[in-house]
Amino acid sequence: MEKMKHKKIAERMNRMSYQNFNVSVYCPVGNINKITDFEAFDEKLKHLYQNVKLGHAYLECYRGMEWCDKEQLLKVKDFFESKGIATSGGITTCDDSNNEGFVSLCYSKEKGQEILKKAVALNAEVFDEFIFDDFYFLNCRCEECIRQKGDRSWSQFRLDQKKYITEEIIMKTAKGINPDINVIIKFPQWYEDYNETGYDLVMEPEQFDSIYTGTETRNPTYSQQHLPKYISYFVMRYLESAAPGRNLGGWFDPYECTYNITSYLEQGYLTLFAKAKEVTLFCLDSLIKDSSFMAFAPALGQMFKEMDDWLSQLGEPVGVAAYRPGYARGENNVHNYLGMCGIPFEPYIEYPKQEKVIFLAEGAACDADIVTKMKESMLAGADVIVTSGFVRKLGDAFKEFVNVSYSPRKAIVNEYAVTKDNGVSVSGRYMGDKQILIPQMDYCTNDIWELAAAYGTDNNFPIVLRCSYGKGRISILTIPDNMGEMYHYPAEIWKTIRGLFAGEIPALLEGPSKIQMFVYDNDMVVLRSDLNYYESVSLRLKDKYTKVTELTYNKELPVIDGKVTLQLTPAVNYIFKLQ
Ligand SMILES: [Zn+2]
Repeated sequence: MEKMKHKKIAERMNRMSYQNFNVSVYCPVGNINKITDFEAFDEKLKHLYQNVKLGHAYLECYRGMEWCDKEQLLKVKDFFESKGIATSGGITTCDDSNNEGFVSLCYSKEKGQEILKKAVALNAEVFDEFIFDDFYFLNCRCEECIRQKGDRSWSQFRLDQKKYITEEIIMKTAKGINPDINVIIKFPQWYEDYNETGYDLVMEPEQFDSIYTGTETRNPTYSQQHLPKYISYFVMRYLESAAPGRNLGGWFDPYECTYNITSYLEQGYLTLFAKAKEVTLFCLDSLIKDSSFMAFAPALGQMFKEMDDWLSQLGEPVGVAAYRPGYARGENNVHNYLGMCGIPFEPYIEYPKQEKVIFLAEGAACDADIVTKMKESMLAGADVIVTSGFVRKLGDAFKEFVNVSYSPRKAIVNEYAVTKDNGVSVSGRYMGDKQILIPQMDYCTNDIWELAAAYGTDNNFPIVLRCSYGKGRISILTIPDNMGEMYHYPAEIWKTIRGLFAGEIPALLEGPSKIQMFVYDNDMVVLRSDLNYYESVSLRLKDKYTKVTELTYNKELPVIDGKVTLQLTPAVNYIFKLQ
């Protein structure tokens, strides 16, 4: 059974409309029900398939109390397939109430269970595969849910209920009708809050045949979620580690992107830099009918063409091992803020004990065995880098390594210094472009060393602390209270911070924040600036590299003092081949 399942998924992943990936469009039930005149619809759909090589469409049968009947579903399926576009089903498990944001179906009541069962059965009758849009969360607090929850936390109640509903209603119904069906769960990009709403990154990849990744980032400042752009890359890789070989693709949408079409495309670039095998565009009518987004399909076409060329040349993604257990919480999005500052991560849902550089944020402290695991890594010579939030969460247990603690005191800082003698002293005065608020980390002089510091009034506070432990080292990175304010650390501070991660990276970025870096195992490096202005940056190379070619503009860059320097244009991908 297991082998058959994997064979089917492997076959599906080889179905590509481009050389390196497939493109799919998600068609919500409301869009599908409007299709009556297929000739007129084809005229509209041309806007998408004449710009984008469309290989696949998800056809939804239920969302928010609206249904598509089997007859219409089959007609639309036939239409897409007559155009050479493969089809799968889709379900969005929400209710229609709009009184309180999005409302999930309530499975404590018969009605919610019946809707789910009916939607699953319809999909299994019509398709060999269907996907759950990322509304398969639980947020109902009705009287019946309160009664069934009992003494459990909401999180535990929802995890328990969802496990049962998935097994008993979804999988039994789907497999009972169509034993070979591929049932896909799409996980949202808000991975920090999964467990609170019943998403379970440990159990659900086992329950479902395959998974899918939401890579929507939209507008990091002015939209409701907290979404640094680097998420589109990070969450793809993170979910890949949760279901290796079964993460079928990444999914994004145009909403809250009209302020800047590049911000829309960036979701696609990053999804593909993370090596998604399929990109799903949400949603059909927004892309072919809504005047707000009519410019998006032609732009997508150009992006896919460009990326298809690059992806043929990029190896497997690599980066600094970032451990985040599936049930972690803490320092929401810290990896993504750091990713926006030129630190390339490769996330791991299991502790990466084989790695020589390991990054641990607050969420990693949720692992009850983390101290033992860190100890083993460092005794074997690893560099472990932790955040101030990790130290806070671990509390006294952190003192196994060194007596550093997270004090309740804060400091407002704007001037910085770095060490040039391994922490014996700090020197220089580097200005941030804005004052920021940082926690004061308590440490013991001469027991651990400040590699970077922020000046206060007749005082200074650590930004980076480091000491040895066994054959390895432990470093502590201070994260500002508002993580976005990390962007105000000056370039000199970033040089020290990025240096902590140097072990496993072929080249280090020298320059300010808001420049992303992606690294591949065939000596390829990508830089992408999210600054609004042109900025000169350098790549400091590992000794073995003597030649650098930048492929976007096809230019060999002179290597001077072990580094290459170039000016980055905002929102352009620079692809480097290191030799
Ligand atoms: Zn309820």
